[in-house]
Amino acid sequence: MALIVQKYGGTSVGDPARIKNVANRVAKYRAQGDQIVVVVSAMSGVTDNLIRLAKEIMPLPSEREMDMLLSTGEQTTIALTAMALHALNIPAASLTGAQAGIVTDGVHTKAKIQNITPQKVHALLDAGNVVIVAGFQGETSEGQITTLGRGGSDLTAIALAAALKADLCQIYTDVDGVYTTDPRLVPTARKLAEISYDEMLELASSGAKVMQSRSVEFAKKFGVVFEVRSSLNENPGTIVKEETKNMEDVVIRGVALDKNQAKVTLVAVPDRPGVAARIFKALAEATINVDMIVQNVSHGSGTPSTDLSFTVDKPELLKARQVIDGLKSEIGFREAIADEKIGKLSIVGVGMKSHSGVAAKMFETLAKEGVNIDMISTSEIKISVVIDLAKGEAATRAVHAAFLG
Ligand code: ADP
Ligand code: ASP
Ligand code: MG
Repeated sequence: MALIVQKYGGTSVGDPARIKNVANRVAKYRAQGDQIVVVVSAMSGVTDNLIRLAKEIMPLPSEREMDMLLSTGEQTTIALTAMALHALNIPAASLTGAQAGIVTDGVHTKAKIQNITPQKVHALLDAGNVVIVAGFQGETSEGQITTLGRGGSDLTAIALAAALKADLCQIYTDVDGVYTTDPRLVPTARKLAEISYDEMLELASSGAKVMQSRSVEFAKKFGVVFEVRSSLNENPGTIVKEETKNMEDVVIRGVALDKNQAKVTLVAVPDRPGVAARIFKALAEATINVDMIVQNVSHGSGTPSTDLSFTVDKPELLKARQVIDGLKSEIGFREAIADEKIGKLSIVGVGMKSHSGVAAKMFETLAKEGVNIDMISTSEIKISVVIDLAKGEAATRAVHAAFLG
């Protein structure tokens, strides 16, 4: 008897018919004698809608109240999924994240899982139930409801698979697996049979929203092998696992476009030690994640100054602006400019470690497309550039064609 964790994303539970489809799929596995834990997301569009409602009340709502609000999306789906299983005469019980023993830190809207005490899950499984757990949520040790960041149901599934020592972890979504790039953007994208944790992590943190990046980090840390596959057909998906020797033969595994970033530029920042530290410490204290940073030394006369640009997730722009505005008189920069019309284009592959000329080929391809590069950052297995958002999709297609055909 195997223990399987299955996660179904928003589209897969998007309406009652889809929820019944999930119940049928679960029933099939159960008929083979397996124990099943199902993690579900909110129905598609629900989380976005709740965020919209909150923003209509005020632009920067309390993050505690946001978690209270957003956690209701998944709570709706767990109950409906349990009912769909009951309708098939299958014993099933739904649990909130807190009831499933998911304990997090207190960083509202992007809490980290600290530990999982899955006794209740085990007890329900042992009594013959399918256990349905609300994704994306947990509870602090003080009993505050938290959420795990957008796409966080992936993390719930991977973390539960680790805590329960599951035999199999399946992430069901609305595409057949992980592709060389977003198949909705580039029709020639190819499905990958397998991908290493590191490549999946870089793709996910570069905007390939098929997996939440933190969930991949967690899977790597705890060695959870998982499969990304479609809830709408029986096609084999993509296995995500530790890198194997032959994976390095492929130079570029995938291309990702992140349209969810914004750039902040501080103009004429006094060039003296400690200024960058002050700025990024303040952002960190406000729990804002900064991705790329570029500093251009200005060669003008007078007090030396620099322009400092950095990128943040678009939903955090307002909060970042608030922090930066609060530093203006202390630091004495001239102005802060926000740009939401940027896209981050990345290429990822473990083979980059052993092949040269990859950056040159990427930049040449962009030049041929008439795309100007605004910022560049690299890691051992990734090259990212910030470009004009309007050119993002065409640039993605061109770069995909250049490296992956
Ligand atoms: P779910 O609701 O199941 O969590 P998401 O919408 O979060 O699903 O993620 C699935 C989507 O990710 C796909 O519909 C696809 O458009 C997008 N996507 C982006 N990059 C990739 C990629 N490289 N491979 C597959 N899908 C991708
Ligand atoms: N419902 C949450 C979101 O839309 C979590 C998830 O779908 O994984 O981000
Ligand atoms: Mg998702």
